Amino acid sequence: MVALPTAVRRALTGQGIHIQAALQYPRLYTAIHKIHRRSIVSNAATAPLYTQNTNESFQNDIFVPPTRPNLPATEFSDRMAAIKEAKPFSEFLTDNFNRQHNYLRISITERCNLRCLYCMPEEGIDLSPPSHLLTTEEILHLAKLFVSQGVTKIRLTGGEPTVRKDIVDLITELGKLKAIGLKELAMTTNGISLARKLPQMVQGGLTALNLSLDTLDEFKFQFMTRRKGLSNVLKSIDTALSLNIQPLKVNCVVMSKVNVDEIPSFLAMTKDQPIEVRFIEYMPFAGNKWESGKMITYQEMLDQIRQSHPDLQKVQDHKNDTSKTYQIPGYKGKLGFITSMTHNFCGTCNRLRITSDGNIKVCLFDNAEVSLRDMMRRDGGMGPEGEKRLLEVIGIAVKGKKEKHAGLGELETMPNRPMILIGNGYQQRLPSKTPSNIPTYLLSAPHIGQSVRAYSTSRNPYQSVIAADSQDPAPAQKLTHVLPSGAAHMVPIHEKAITTRTAKAVSMIRFSNPEAVKLIRSNSNKKGDVLSISRIAGIMAAKKTSEIIPLCHPISISKVQVNLRIRDDGNGAIDILTIVTCDGKTGVEMEALTAATGAALTVYDMCKAVDKNMILDGTRVVEKVGGKSGDWREEGWVEWSES
Ligand code: SAM
Ligand code: SF4
Repeated sequence: MVALPTAVRRALTGQGIHIQAALQYPRLYTAIHKIHRRSIVSNAATAPLYTQNTNESFQNDIFVPPTRPNLPATEFSDRMAAIKEAKPFSEFLTDNFNRQHNYLRISITERCNLRCLYCMPEEGIDLSPPSHLLTTEEILHLAKLFVSQGVTKIRLTGGEPTVRKDIVDLITELGKLKAIGLKELAMTTNGISLARKLPQMVQGGLTALNLSLDTLDEFKFQFMTRRKGLSNVLKSIDTALSLNIQPLKVNCVVMSKVNVDEIPSFLAMTKDQPIEVRFIEYMPFAGNKWESGKMITYQEMLDQIRQSHPDLQKVQDHKNDTSKTYQIPGYKGKLGFITSMTHNFCGTCNRLRITSDGNIKVCLFDNAEVSLRDMMRRDGGMGPEGEKRLLEVIGIAVKGKKEKHAGLGELETMPNRPMILIGNGYQQRLPSKTPSNIPTYLLSAPHIGQSVRAYSTSRNPYQSVIAADSQDPAPAQKLTHVLPSGAAHMVPIHEKAITTRTAKAVSMIRFSNPEAVKLIRSNSNKKGDVLSISRIAGIMAAKKTSEIIPLCHPISISKVQVNLRIRDDGNGAIDILTIVTCDGKTGVEMEALTAATGAALTVYDMCKAVDKNMILDGTRVVEKVGGKSGDWREEGWVEWSES
């Protein structure tokens, strides 16, 4: 075995020092780089070697030695140091538009101690059963996995993260991930019960804070949040300042006729304090009774501020900033605008979200989600094999991220979780290239398919767009598996009653010569008893329906009957009739169709040696009994039984 120089060995084993290796052994390093790129795809457990910062050293996979650019000495050495330190960035977290997702937002609770007007209804939201929520161990497992792949920033959000009992311990555990590459640990909070815990949080590793505050008027605070507590929030801001937490941002959702008149008071906060106040365009979410009339656009806010501060200066934003930042000359703090509704930031989006029930959400405004929780809870889900599978699914979800989220018009009507169930995030984008951001092959892969959900707003009563049952014909003739955004989703059925349902489907195989029927009738087909085997195939296919049809729910089948009869007209044919019954909330037409198709394909498979021109024909549902849509039968269809 050839002994490799240390720097190259380290590069091969993913221990970094790429630049050193590259400088010393450029050809070998280029070859390693290529191998590694391949291994990223083939070996989910291997963190890829090449980094976002070294990309510029490779053009068309040819190593180009770094030349010293025209930069001041300190800037150049800072840059080289950053390159040296750069963590390998994962292909799993890189989407098809080359966006590297190094920022993870984790919602750690659905609960909240406020009821902000723009966020949720007064009566709160339907909370998930505790067993559906991620445990601390699961949150830490996911956080570690993401950091190992190149995530450098984690933000905790909710709900209200501070209501989680173990919040300080959780932050402390997450803080330990700094040893493996985490750089920023942030939290978005309403500040109601924060001040007392904040010193411990900072000690545990919290580095940045966003505090939500929409009014400085006590009465209005109570109106906007439906609770008391302004003084608590102000105390939290003071504590954060005294602990020198930076960046310290105040999030203020601006609403017409509610708090738009308070913009000057918020600007005043930035005069002597290192605070960045961010004015947020009010966004539509399930439950917030969104009206476009209540939204004040960034441009309107900017115009208003410029009237009193004509010297307002634009501040250079960072690459992944979702805020447009400004400063009033002479002021210590800054102001920014989160323009989610009027200008998107999709092009530079580097965020992923984990919901409190453990789904990965690649875009705030895309409702396709994949359950990582379910994968972790399967046998071996938290072990090395489980990690591989998680990365595979995360990678597929990230690759399915759209270039941009929907525009304003679409967002108004799109179903989505209430904000409180997502956790905040000011990120959006463009029209989708694909109908769903979870590809069909992901939906149908057996170990993954069960984990895919699309959030359905009928889970809570406040959602304006409620999809009807997928398997019952929809009254308004809508495609119930397709959302207004074009994304495919699984229709929710948890609120439906269990009923007994029966569906009948038919199919037919026509032969092009009489030989096949002759062999079937005499049971002398070389492959065996065509009718019996096809009957069993139909039964097995019915039971597998939810595994092969992506958006079908698994249902409890109580009976499958497959009838086959030989027809002698023409060159002969086999008629197939399937009757499937279930006791469930949805079904069973798809099961009946799958049974008929499975049986037909088996006839085809067993007879193809003697007939290459068979035709599968007439597959359809002919009768449905039970379920919300009522009873139905194809006009003129006459039931038959095996003779
Ligand atoms: N409870 C914490 C808080 O309020 O800071 C964290 C969760 S909250 C959902 C996160 C952020 O989302 C807050 O800054 C809140 O102002 C913002 N937000 C909630 N609903 C919004 C909406 N409809 N439009 C714009 N921002 C919203
Ligand atoms: Fe609670 Fe935050 Fe939503 Fe207000 S914005 S209701 S504080 S989750």
